[in-house]
Parts: sequence; structure tokens; C-alpha cells
Amino acid sequence: MSSSFRLGSDGVYRCDALQAFVWQKHGFGTRKGNPEARVTVQQIHSARVCNAAGVRHAGVQADALVTDRIRESIGVRTADCVPILLLDVKTRAVGAIHAGWRGTAAEISANALRKMAEDFDSEAGNIYAVLGPCIRVCCYEVDAEVAMQLARFGAADAESARGKQKVDLAAANRFQLQAAGVSPERIFDCELCTRCLSEQFYSYRRQPRDPGRMISSIARLG
Ligand SMILES: [Zn+2]
Repeated sequence: MSSSFRLGSDGVYRCDALQAFVWQKHGFGTRKGNPEARVTVQQIHSARVCNAAGVRHAGVQADALVTDRIRESIGVRTADCVPILLLDVKTRAVGAIHAGWRGTAAEISANALRKMAEDFDSEAGNIYAVLGPCIRVCCYEVDAEVAMQLARFGAADAESARGKQKVDLAAANRFQLQAAGVSPERIFDCELCTRCLSEQFYSYRRQPRDPGRMISSIARLG
């Protein structure tokens, strides 16, 4: 579902649908600014999800964080991969996911929901999910073997098994979230492409040698 996303004077995008909840703060960074993230991890393109309570240094390896602690902002860094923020309106637990193709193929979005269910009794029906700026199907061409791993999430054409093809990482993650029970009305996607909008965003595909990173983060305030 599309909702309005606004770019603040601090250079951070925010989703109106989440701004309706005054007890949270969140944001998706740009070249001009990033939201605060007190807890981050060393991202390794895995499907591993950590509870922020167990993260005592930034060297912990994972690709998604969850927490229900107040004022514990959790964040991920991306430059083309999909940043996804989760919010449970009932338990007020939150999550932040870094989903590249490997993490997506290994179902990191589904894993993050499962971890929130285990640690905070979150139910998928109470979850809001917001997808930030990432490389989109217009710009993301991959080899057939990668495309095949994403085809089961509706992100690629399983029939064209040869050569390169365009895949839609954001769609694959929306698929996983919905398959796990998140309502499509509660999934919001900014639909912005990091590679197309190079003045606003860092893009690994555009600058493979020296991409900066944007931070996407979320915190519960009360
Ligand atoms: Zn593009």
C-alpha cells in the first residue's frame, strides 16, 4: 500500500502511517542525514535476527534487530538493500531489517516476525511494516541463479532460467510479510529507487567502490 512519505529538513524520510503513533520515532536516512541508531550490528547478508538486549557491541553479526525496550533505537545500514522497519501496535515491540538478496532468499523478513512472536508475543495481525529506499526492479538485474532463489517470493520470473533478469527485492519482502500474516493494508512502501535517485541516496550498484550507507532506524518512546 502506498502512503505518504515525507522528507524532513534533517534529510530523513518518515512514513505518515507510522507517525500516527506518537510513541515511536523512525526514519530512513539519505545522503543529507540519518536518524539516530543506538544499537546496530555487523551486517553479513544473513537471515539472523537479534534481540537488541543481547547486543553489547557493534561486532555482533546479524541482519535484523528487534526490541521492546523504551528509547532503544535500533538501526540497519543500507545502500541498495531493502531497509524494513516493523512496529507492533499492541506490544509496542519494533524491528529493523536489512534485506539484500541473500537475506531475502533466506527469509529474513519472515524470521524477524518469528523472533518478535517468540520474544514479545507479537502477532502478525498487529504489525505495521514500512519499506524504505532501495534498489528497485528498474535497476536491479541479477544472474539467473539469484533470480531463481527469489522466484518463489514472486520477485522474479521462474520460467526464464537463462541469462540475467530484473528482480524486485521489495516485492519479495512484501510477499514474505503477507505470507506470515501481516495485512497488506499495513505494509507501506516508499517506492523510491536508490540507484535512480543518486542525488538523494547512496547506491552500491552505482558506486561499487565507495558507496556510503544510509541508516534506517526505529525506537519506541513510551
Ligand atoms: Zn531504479
